[in-house]
Amino acid sequence: MTTRRSFMAGLGASASSIYFCNCCNAQEITTNPLLNPQWDRGGKDAGNEPSLSHRHPLAGTKRKPYMYQGKKVKVIDAHAHCFFPEAVALAGKGTSVNGAVKGGPEHYIPVSATEVIQRRIENMDAKGVDMEVLSVNTFWYAKDRDLAKEICRINNDNLADLCGAYPTRFAAFGSIATQYPDLAVEQLTELMKNPAFKGVAIQANVAGVEHADPRFHPIWAKAEELGAVLFIHPQGTAQLSSRFKGNGWMSNVIGNPLDTTIALQHLIYEGVFDKFPNLKVLAAHGGGFLGSYAPRMDHSCFVSPINCNPDVVLKKKPTEYLNQIFFDSLVFTSEGLRHLIAQVGSSQVVIGTDSPIPWEEFPVEQVLKTPISDAQKAAILGGNASKLLRIGT
Ligand SMILES: [Zn+2]
Repeated sequence: MTTRRSFMAGLGASASSIYFCNCCNAQEITTNPLLNPQWDRGGKDAGNEPSLSHRHPLAGTKRKPYMYQGKKVKVIDAHAHCFFPEAVALAGKGTSVNGAVKGGPEHYIPVSATEVIQRRIENMDAKGVDMEVLSVNTFWYAKDRDLAKEICRINNDNLADLCGAYPTRFAAFGSIATQYPDLAVEQLTELMKNPAFKGVAIQANVAGVEHADPRFHPIWAKAEELGAVLFIHPQGTAQLSSRFKGNGWMSNVIGNPLDTTIALQHLIYEGVFDKFPNLKVLAAHGGGFLGSYAPRMDHSCFVSPINCNPDVVLKKKPTEYLNQIFFDSLVFTSEGLRHLIAQVGSSQVVIGTDSPIPWEEFPVEQVLKTPISDAQKAAILGGNASKLLRIGT
């Protein structure tokens, strides 16, 4: 078995050719430190530097629960991450996994890492989160079939162990090799036999191919049949990397929301939601830019018919599909959340924090400050996720 120490030592041998970025930007790209000096910081597992370890400012305390109709609302964070050393070690040379972000070291939570798990739980308690639905950001889409299958197996076995050991604190979105649709269908079918798995986490595209491509339809058909949620998580928009270079980490700030936006718009415009009307899609980061600027979608084919395929006749206006997609609350402000709710409906929003990365440390406060009803607050804090993910309250 690969120990943490041997795993890290192994990485050291190929440090010059590896870059690691963050939870939300893992891709297979050759390092170019001249273009992206921040990517080469320290080489190796840049996210596992002790200095990046992060503790919630209120860690060690527990929040008062939010009560609705005399009952404690179980707060469910549907956007939380982890990695497992053995799977990351298999990724090999040239693959980015854990990036130089705060909370990087806290990503590694195999069930044996009891101290790190305890720290994660303390952070959850400080945030007021009762349960995290864990997912592993993909780093195996460019791998061959056997390797991708093995990486997913390791992830899923570890996720099952964690959820089994902490059934009230963790559930999971499993890992599938989406680039091999027949294999992915098998994996999905197997995963959903374990109630700890609520669906699967997939990237916003599959090595540059959109989810709307018919080759992936068998996966979506199986997900629809099994009631498995597809958690779409972006990893930057690599095609724009030259414009993203420079100060500010735009590959994440712009690239990630854009990646999700593109994925969702393809699913809508290509009629995938008409073909699979009961498909449950959960989009990270409030759906990217889509939730903020959706109505433009409704005008494009009127303004420029030549850019629209006459063979695709959607059953609804593009924006109406947003009312069947689910979105996490990771939009930072109560005003942003209010607008998202106004666009997609309060039944479609669930908590998401990006834990252990401290993008949002006060997710409950964000909801409580939003000018919506108490029933809507309770739904967003946990009720919607409980229904969507079949998690008991
Ligand atoms: Zn994330």
